[in-house]
Amino acid sequence: MVLYRSLLSNRRNSNTCPAAATFFVTHEYTDYTLVNELYNAGHEIALHSITHQVSVDYWREADYATMMREFADQRSQIAHFANIPVNSVHGVRLPFLQMAGNASFQMMASAGLTYDITWPTNDYRDPGLWPYTLNFRSTQDCVIPPCPTASIPGPWVIPMNSWTDLQGLPCAMVDTCFHHPHGADQEGWFNFIMQNFQRHYLGNRSPFGFYVHEWFVRVNPGLRFALERFLDVVNNLNDAFMVNAKEVTDWVQNPVPLNVYRQRPCQNRLQTQCGANFCGPLRAPTADKNYYMQVCSTCPRVYPWINNPLGLIKPMLVDNWPKLKGNMRSVVVVFLVAIFALAYAEDELPLAEPCDADLCKAPDCRCSSQDIPGNLEPRNTPQFVLLTFDDAITELNTQTYRSIIYRRTNANKCPIGVTFFMHHEYTDYIMVNELYNQGFEIALHSISHRIPQDFWRYASYEELMREIGDQKQQIAFFANIPANTIHGVRSPFLQMSGNNTFKMMQSAGITYDSSWPTTRFTDPGMWPYTLDFESTQDCVVGPCPTASIPGPWVIPMITWTDLGGFPCSMVDACFHTPDTEDEWFQFFFKNFQKHYFGNRAPFGFYIHEAFIRPRPHVWRAIERFLDVLNNINDVFMVNANEVIDWVKNPIPVNEYVKKDCRRTTPAACRPTICPGLFSADTEKRYYMRVCSRCPRSYPWVNNPLGL
Ligand SMILES: [Zn+2]
Ligand SMILES: [Zn+2]
Repeated sequence: MVLYRSLLSNRRNSNTCPAAATFFVTHEYTDYTLVNELYNAGHEIALHSITHQVSVDYWREADYATMMREFADQRSQIAHFANIPVNSVHGVRLPFLQMAGNASFQMMASAGLTYDITWPTNDYRDPGLWPYTLNFRSTQDCVIPPCPTASIPGPWVIPMNSWTDLQGLPCAMVDTCFHHPHGADQEGWFNFIMQNFQRHYLGNRSPFGFYVHEWFVRVNPGLRFALERFLDVVNNLNDAFMVNAKEVTDWVQNPVPLNVYRQRPCQNRLQTQCGANFCGPLRAPTADKNYYMQVCSTCPRVYPWINNPLGLIKPMLVDNWPKLKGNMRSVVVVFLVAIFALAYAEDELPLAEPCDADLCKAPDCRCSSQDIPGNLEPRNTPQFVLLTFDDAITELNTQTYRSIIYRRTNANKCPIGVTFFMHHEYTDYIMVNELYNQGFEIALHSISHRIPQDFWRYASYEELMREIGDQKQQIAFFANIPANTIHGVRSPFLQMSGNNTFKMMQSAGITYDSSWPTTRFTDPGMWPYTLDFESTQDCVVGPCPTASIPGPWVIPMITWTDLGGFPCSMVDACFHTPDTEDEWFQFFFKNFQKHYFGNRAPFGFYIHEAFIRPRPHVWRAIERFLDVLNNINDVFMVNANEVIDWVKNPIPVNEYVKKDCRRTTPAACRPTICPGLFSADTEKRYYMRVCSRCPRSYPWVNNPLGL
C-alpha cells in the first residue's frame, strides 16, 4: 500500500485527468479500508476471487457454480466490506491466469460483469489484439487452456498482450518475464519497459498492459524507480493515457478520436465513507485458523469465505467445496497413523504430565504451543526461515550450494543461515569444512542412513548413540570443525524412535531435533518447545516421545500444503507439485505466506539438493524466492540453532535487526585424499576426502573415526 501511495497518488495524465490503475483483489488477508482508499483515489477495484485457491486444477476445472461463488459473490463482498458501489466493479482476472473455458464467461454474463483480463496472447503481440466480445468465435491463441469456445454475448475479453523479455520470450505479467533486467538495474528496467511500450505506441496502439504484483516492484528497486520514470514519461505524452481497465472497454464501445477524447471531462467519482472497524479473531470455516480483518462495515460474525461471502452466519460444513473435503480426508488418515503409532511407544519411562505454563518457563522450558514466544505481536516477531539440505555432502551438490546460497544476505545485511543434516557415507569432509566456514550450520543425520526405515523406528538408545551421538565426534574430526558447533539432528526418513531419540540427544548434548512433522498445527504454526512436559503435537510418523525429557528442543516440521491440498513435510515430498518455474515460485510463496501473515512460526524449506539439480525451473524458482525473502525487512534466513537461541530469549524484530551478525571462527583444512578405504560393514571401497589425517579403514558405526 505504501508503494501504491508513493507511485500513484497525484499522478495526472497530460489532459489533467487523474491517472488510474486497476486492482485485482483477492479476499483472503485483504484490508478493506485500503480498498476503500484506493477506490476514493480514483482507481478501479476488480475481482480476483475469494479464495485464490492454490490448486491450479481447481481453477481449470471450475464450473459455472464455482465461478458464481468465487466472483459474483466477491463483488457483493467487496462492495459490502469496502463500502463501495456494487456497480463500480466490472472486471475479473482469474487466479494464476488459469482460464476455465466457458464457465467464467457464462458467470460474467449472468452477473453482469463487463470484462475479463486473464487471457494472454503471445501470437498477437505486434500489432496487439484489441478487446473484443465472444458473440463469435475468438481467433486469439489459447496460451493457458481451456479457452472459451461457445458464443457468449455480453462480456469483453481484454487480451493480455504479452511482453517480450530480454531473450524474446513472451510473458503475460512483468513479474513472470524469465529474462528480465537485474533487480537493481534502473536503466535496464527503464529500457525494458520502454521497448515493450513502444511496440504498442509506435504500432496499432492497442492497450499497453503493465501487469505486476506489488511485491515484485518492492523487491526490485531498479524496477520501482524505472516505473516511476516511465509513468512520468507517459503522463507527459499528449496521446497516452493511464486509465482504469473499464475505461478501455468504454472507449472501444464508443471510439472517439484523440482530440475529442482529450476534451472530455475527467471521470468524477463520488467519495464514499469508511467507518473503519477492526474485527477479529474471526474463525475461518475452512481451516483451524483465525483471521483479523479491517472493514468499512460492521464486523462479520465469522471470517467471510466462499459460500458465505459476508460472513453472516455460522456456516455448516460446506458440502460443495472440494478442497475442504480433501483436507478432511487427509486429516482422517493422519489420525489413523497416530493411533497405530502409539502402540509402539512402549518403554519404562514415566509419562510426561500436561504442561504447566507456570512451571515451564524460558529460557530452558517451553510448552508445545502456537503462542509466539515472549507474547510478541506477529508484526513484532522476526519471521525466521529455515532452509535445510539433507544427506551426504559431496563436491557435486556443493556446486549447487555455491550457486544458490553463497554470498546471500538477509535484509539486515547479515549473511543468511542454512542447515545441513548430513550423513557420513559418501560425504566429502573438505566440502563440510567449506560450508562451515561459509557460516552455515552442520547437523547430524546419522552415520549409515541405513535401510530399512524400520531400523530407525525400533532403534534402541544404544544404537542411536552409535549412529548419531558418535557422528558428532566424527564430523568434528574429519571436517576439523568444533564439536560444540553441532547442535541438531534429523532422523533418517524422519523416523524417530520415540523417547530413545530424545534420551540419546540428552546424553549426547544435542540441542534440537528437526524430524517431527505436524499436519495439525500448521496455521498458526507450532513454535519450538521442550519435552519437560507432555507434547500436544500430532504424531504423524510414530513413535513420538511420551516421557518427560528435559533438555532437547523440538523444532516441529510445519508441513506445507501441496497443490492438491495434502500436507508434505519436505518440499520434495509434496505429491501434487507445480510444473513451471512460475507455479513453483507461487507455490513457495503461498506456503510462506501462511507463516508470514500468521503467527510467524519458523518457516521450514526442507529439501534435498538431488531434487533441485536436475530441475532448472525449480532451481530458478528457488533463487527468485530467496531473492524475495532476502529483501523483506523482517524475514531472516538463519541456522536452525539460531531459532532456538531466539525462542529462549525472544526479542522484538526492531531489536533483533540491530544485533551483530553471526560470527564463525574460521576452521582450517589441509585437504587430504584417502583412496581405497575398505569397509567391512558395507563390503565396499570408498574414496574419502578429509581435513584430517586419513583413517585406517572406512569409518562406520562402532568405529566412527576408522581407527
Ligand atoms: Zn493472483
Ligand atoms: Zn536423509
